[in-house]
Amino acid sequence: MDGNYMSFGKNKEKIYAEDEIKTTFADVAGQDEAKESLGEIIDFLHNPEKYGEIGAALPKGVLLVGPPGTGKTLIARAVAGEAKVPFFALSGSEFVQMFVGMGAAKVRDLFSQANKKAPCIIFIDEIDAIGKRRDGMTTNDEREQTLNQLLTEMDGFDGRKGVVILAATNRPESLDKALLRPGRFDRRVQMELPDLEGRKAILQVHLKKVKHEEIDLDLIARATSGASGAELANIVNDAALRAVRNNSSSITTNDLEESIETVIAGAQRKGKVISDEEKRIIAYHEIGHAMVAAKQSHSAPVHKITIITRTSGALGYTMQIDEGERNLYSREDLENRIATLTGGRAAEEVIFNKITTGASNDIEQATKLARAMVTRYGMSKEFDMVALETVNNPYLSSDTSLSCSAETAARVDEVVLSIVKNAHEKAKKIIRENEAKMHELSEYLIQKETITGEEFMNILEN
Ligand code: ADP
Ligand code: MG
Ligand code: ZN
Repeated sequence: MDGNYMSFGKNKEKIYAEDEIKTTFADVAGQDEAKESLGEIIDFLHNPEKYGEIGAALPKGVLLVGPPGTGKTLIARAVAGEAKVPFFALSGSEFVQMFVGMGAAKVRDLFSQANKKAPCIIFIDEIDAIGKRRDGMTTNDEREQTLNQLLTEMDGFDGRKGVVILAATNRPESLDKALLRPGRFDRRVQMELPDLEGRKAILQVHLKKVKHEEIDLDLIARATSGASGAELANIVNDAALRAVRNNSSSITTNDLEESIETVIAGAQRKGKVISDEEKRIIAYHEIGHAMVAAKQSHSAPVHKITIITRTSGALGYTMQIDEGERNLYSREDLENRIATLTGGRAAEEVIFNKITTGASNDIEQATKLARAMVTRYGMSKEFDMVALETVNNPYLSSDTSLSCSAETAARVDEVVLSIVKNAHEKAKKIIRENEAKMHELSEYLIQKETITGEEFMNILEN
């Protein structure tokens, strides 16, 4: 909507603070982890002096990261509402489109206003529009000046005064590294697409605003797997419009079902919403990873398994947490890790007798690990303790270059292949031996969409 309403006079416009934000955390369903980490910011804004007395400096900048429609803008407003402080909101694209030639001046003006109003919040939506990584190829003086001014202002203001800057992006990887340095946006809050319980909660928040009959929430939530909060809000609104068109005075489950089709149809075309068939495959794939991990004594315990798309773009994921920091890994640890990585594909093969593209990231990681075992960690019989690869710059990247002959390189490939192959065989064996549990666990995951490691272990061990 920004572009269309842009008018000529806008250039001179000031950015005003909203003083009484009505949005609170109650309007944001789910996202408990995000709320928890923002809780401290709210406490700080309530009482900056308390922090000042001890000398504790809170982060100046918090980056809200997550897919579109997960409630980043919403939660930023809710932070201001909870803290009862003024809220300055603007978007990165506004800077680029509306304040042509004045970006830097606007930033200066904004911070000077904010300083006078402290404690307060500055919210920069779509920060990637001004904070895109400078690639050295294309230059955009305007954007760069705006960005530099933002960095200068952030460095310059007194963090104890109570100005907190929130920024949102769905493309964190594209941000200029300078923005992420300590003292700038050094804290990150992750927003995720809602799982089943999350979707029920979001539907409830939005159903409160409309008249409705008794709604089969479970049914609607199950039918909207992969939908974002924004899409769910849209579904409720679309259903309300439908009810009006039908001259009925309140929304029914049926209205909602029909709206799912209208609203989600677009999303389905884009492949965002997961079909039942895909959901099954993803569930078995993820349980496969977890099963292989759990059955190898040395693998870290499974923490959380989900079939909801994560920000990273990975379909499902199985998160493993090591108990405590680890610095040393034995050869067995690494072999087990590789087997775990192949566990997803192994489950697809054993259960469905077919393979999908879902394992591409696993394949990449497993190969990297196996190669490092041979070329850098001296863990193969064939090459003993000879360094065959050197890491170019361990601080900047994990780029490596080969330091051996072409013949040796070819033999390295063979050894790497055999490591991965063995691990893959081991994974398939584990899956086959536990097929009944694979079914039980996968069905459970399909029902719940996200399960904890504890739930997983309970089913596995009973
Ligand atoms: P983003 O900024 O992440 O793209 P928005 O905050 O703009 O998402 O979300 C758009 C709308 O979707 C919100 O105004 C709200 O109505 C709805 N919405 C999104 N996430 C949630 C949520 N977690 N709880 C309730 N409503 C949500
Ligand atoms: Mg937004
Ligand atoms: Zn996988």
